[in-house]
Amino acid sequence: MTPKERLRKKIFSGGRISPGEADSLFSWDLIELGEAADMRRRLVHPVNTVGFILDRIINFTNICEAACDFCAFHSGAALKPYELPLPEIFSKIEELRARGGTQVMLQGGLHPRHTLATYTGMVREIKKRFPSIRLHSFSPSELDHIAKKSSLSLDRVIAELKDAGLDSVPGAADMLVDRIRAKVSRKKIRTKQWIEIMRALHRHGMKSSATMTYGMGETQKERVAHLAVVRKVQDETGIFRAFIPWSFSPKRTRLESMAPATGIDYLKIVAVSRIFLDNIRYIQAGWLTEGLKLAQIALAMGANDMGGVLTEEKVVEAAGGGTKAGMREFIDLIKNAGKIPVLRDSDYKVLDSRPARRLK
Ligand code: SF4
Repeated sequence: MTPKERLRKKIFSGGRISPGEADSLFSWDLIELGEAADMRRRLVHPVNTVGFILDRIINFTNICEAACDFCAFHSGAALKPYELPLPEIFSKIEELRARGGTQVMLQGGLHPRHTLATYTGMVREIKKRFPSIRLHSFSPSELDHIAKKSSLSLDRVIAELKDAGLDSVPGAADMLVDRIRAKVSRKKIRTKQWIEIMRALHRHGMKSSATMTYGMGETQKERVAHLAVVRKVQDETGIFRAFIPWSFSPKRTRLESMAPATGIDYLKIVAVSRIFLDNIRYIQAGWLTEGLKLAQIALAMGANDMGGVLTEEKVVEAAGGGTKAGMREFIDLIKNAGKIPVLRDSDYKVLDSRPARRLK
């Protein structure tokens, strides 16, 4: 048996693959790799459903002292500085609620004057008005920033945010490789701190997700190293509800001269993630950055969730990207891929197995 045949056998029997084996998968033919990933998807998610959620990202400020090279959103890059007043945030949530939305992602920059009180105040006011809205908000870097600005421990920051009403925290991970982080986001947390923040969230019983923003000059081995960090943290904590890879958009950033990652890169990363991350149930198709058509193909190569039908998003839009999509398009696209669309909540529980009824 050749090494490739042995690996194929291991994948099809549900065995855990090593980082070296994951690296070798990138040289497989795309269709063969996609088939293997889809088979692994069936092992963890045997039904043919693909979930999505009605949510809204509210980028409440772009004032950010990190000024990462790969970001077009912060006020030193493409956009003018802004801070949304609370009434404007409320009216955005009201719009979402009127459409039946269930989740809000509040995301901002690392504002030099925002302390824990700014965040807990915002969360409390939102929860007072919208108790049924789930707040899947902020990021590991924001938590670290709040702790430093307020001279408090990470545990205290998380405990107070949870007490104010924060439900879960997206695990915005960028690239978990310090060589890349030191180059493109010098003022942000390093991999070790990201892991510590995940452990701290887990201690407080909070859930998260893991992302990967690739295409910032990392090697293929470094992409696998990122996946290995995510798998290890998940083994230890079980904190991740989903894994979401997306490509970095160079436009309007300080890395504008870099060539953007390709569609094949994206599909291979989705497929390898599905096979390697054997402890994460949902792999999300990144339609916002990759476009709806590529995301649809990803559903045949290991992805089993479409994320949110968003009503607004500023970070990807700032880099000249950002696809717009409504619920009708989501439903048609998922059905056209031979899958069953289901409307889900923040915990990936099915809210409506026939979401098309909500369109009538
Ligand atoms: S990626 Fe986040 S932390 Fe970095 S500059 Fe943009 S808003 Fe700030």
